[in-house]
Amino acid sequence: MTDRHPAGITILGATGSIGLNTLDVVARHHDRFRVVALTANTDVDTLAAQCERFQPRFAVMADPSAAERLLSVLRVRAPEVQVLGGQEALAEVAGLGDADYVMAAIVGSAGLLPALAAAVAGKRVLLANKEALVMSGALFMQTVRDHHATLLPIDSEHNALLQCMPDNYATGQAPRGVKNIMLTASGGPFRNTPMDELDAVTPEQACAHPNWDMGRKISVDSATMMNKGLEVIEAGWLFDLPIDRIRVVLHPQSILHSLVEYLDGSMLAQLGNPDMRIPISHALGWPARIESGAQPLDLPAIGMLQFEHPDPHRFPCLSLAEQAWRTGGTAPAILNAANEVAVQAFLECRLAFTSIPHVIEYALENCVVHEAGTLQTILEDDALARDQAMRCISTGIRMRAP
Ligand code: NAD
Ligand code: MG
Repeated sequence: MTDRHPAGITILGATGSIGLNTLDVVARHHDRFRVVALTANTDVDTLAAQCERFQPRFAVMADPSAAERLLSVLRVRAPEVQVLGGQEALAEVAGLGDADYVMAAIVGSAGLLPALAAAVAGKRVLLANKEALVMSGALFMQTVRDHHATLLPIDSEHNALLQCMPDNYATGQAPRGVKNIMLTASGGPFRNTPMDELDAVTPEQACAHPNWDMGRKISVDSATMMNKGLEVIEAGWLFDLPIDRIRVVLHPQSILHSLVEYLDGSMLAQLGNPDMRIPISHALGWPARIESGAQPLDLPAIGMLQFEHPDPHRFPCLSLAEQAWRTGGTAPAILNAANEVAVQAFLECRLAFTSIPHVIEYALENCVVHEAGTLQTILEDDALARDQAMRCISTGIRMRAP
């Protein structure tokens, strides 16, 4: 134990894969961190158990009826915890005065407003929710600057890039002496699946990622490589680089988590086991290093690291994301919204895996792109894109392969 005052942390999306990993790290450092608030959508049982163990001041269920159930459970098991319900309560706890750090780990567009609220409150924002940056990158980065928030990426690739940036680098700045950055991608579970079998793959197959244990939405995004497309856009905002200086390379082992290429020909990379506790600990401890609980790499046991170019015919979602990023404005928000609708439909067995890119392309072609200057415009275009995507799915419109 030290006599340092423990930092307060709010975890948005505490019951998900990133939330669980964050609490695992926090539990290893009782002297450093004190949990201020935990949030979830509907998973009352998991949040109740977390509240019993970590005794936060607040627990929020985004779903109001789930909040009622949590309240009745906690009345007996953790009566000190104040229970709140509804979407507005998420933003409220993201800005609480006694939370120094906010882990933004809600999946999808639902995470945008709470993550922005954390930035407005000038927090150390640990950003896992990449969709927030994809939807509103310019606005988000400006908010971080205006309110002197600290933005640290949790996405393993972006966290790796931050670790390889020049000394004293802060996210949002154009890095000095850097020629390109290179994001690695595993290629997901279907990297070698015969193309004519992709039509029939199931949600279970798509969610069985070879290296990472993640939530279902990001697992499907990894299988289509939309995840890497979203990450290219995320990297563009975080590191202030144009798309032609952001490369993607397939690396099936997920050991080398991304590279920074310097002007002198040096390439710096960060390596580690595929364990999200590593980037989470980096961001929690930063600028110090703290224990994460992850196993160290055994390089001789791994033996070989492979790298290859991604196949654009197999992964059309990657090109769609790059195209949306080039278009700019609300195009990435439209792409993201259509992708969320398509992935949900696939997970509910209402859409074939191979139709996901068609739905996204349909939305991109049928929505007017606006300047992404205000939150209202972004949210309006997000809603219009959802309508178009749902229309495409319900009418069974099939587009040509992108
Ligand atoms: P998950 O599905 O496991 O967990 C999502 C969390 O968000 C849960 O706590 C859930 O209750 C909450 N949530 C879902 N919908 C909500 C809503 N409408 N309102 C409020 N809360 C809601 O997801 P995950 O894998 O932990 O991913 C979370 C975020 O982190 C995503 O944006 C993902 O892209 C990103 N990320 C995840 C990983 C990973 O390894 N899992 C790696 C990199 C980035
Ligand atoms: Mg990633």
